[in-house]
Amino acid sequence: MNEGWPAVAPIIELRRIAKVYPTGEEDTVALRDVDLTVRKGEFVAIMGPSGSGKSSLMHILGLLDRPSGGRYFLNGEDVSGLTRNQQAAIRNRQIGFVFQQFNLLPRTTVLDNVLLPTLYGRVPDGLLRAVRVIDEVGLRDRTNHRSNQLSGGQIQRVAIARALIMEPSMILADEPTGNLDTEKSGEIMELFQQINAKGATVVLITHEEDIARYARRIIRLKDGRIVSDEDWQLPFERSRYDETGDAVPPVH
Ligand code: ADP
Repeated sequence: MNEGWPAVAPIIELRRIAKVYPTGEEDTVALRDVDLTVRKGEFVAIMGPSGSGKSSLMHILGLLDRPSGGRYFLNGEDVSGLTRNQQAAIRNRQIGFVFQQFNLLPRTTVLDNVLLPTLYGRVPDGLLRAVRVIDEVGLRDRTNHRSNQLSGGQIQRVAIARALIMEPSMILADEPTGNLDTEKSGEIMELFQQINAKGATVVLITHEEDIARYARRIIRLKDGRIVSDEDWQLPFERSRYDETGDAVPPVH
């Protein structure tokens, strides 16, 4: 398997992950024996019917919830047994979240919304970063607009800029186009592709095939298990990785 190609370091390694919710007489098993490796620089879509375990998996990946069993290695570090505070620290530094509900501060400028994550940690160059990521998502001319003056697509771009400002190694997106029309959805997915091309790992949940096709790899869940895992686009461009396994920007 992949012999002769430089190894790309995993960012996510799940080993026999289980999630059980105690609900009344019978427990609900949301995830069963999930084994998954995602390498740095991948773009993965997670699909599956309602109730198949997608959100449970995303919450575990994002250190928002703990597995009931199994081990989770993030960037090679076992994060399964960390305290809530330790998990929060890793989350703030390494993971950017984009949700279907945009969760912006109402009546607050684009700039202040994007700066929000920098308030929790010392980020001396926060303002410079904010200007850069706002530009990256195509909202430079909206920097001082308030969130109630923006369209749905623009609001989601702000949410993406806010997810990028801490320069996370991984972006987790839960139905990020769920509230957008087809055209705006396509634009947002192209933005995720650009972000991925610059090196960030992207993992997103969607129930729409068309949206999943923007990813390179599609994982399908059913009844808490991975039932298929396809690298459906062209094989990985190995040239995108340097010898340490870190993704490098493509050469144009
Ligand atoms: P999906 O995101 O694919 O719809 P979920 O991960 O939300 O799936 O849910 C998987 C299973 O776990 C479902 O049967 C759901 O009802 C159950 N579940 C999810 N969250 C909870 C919870 N907090 N308490 C009890 N059961 C839950």
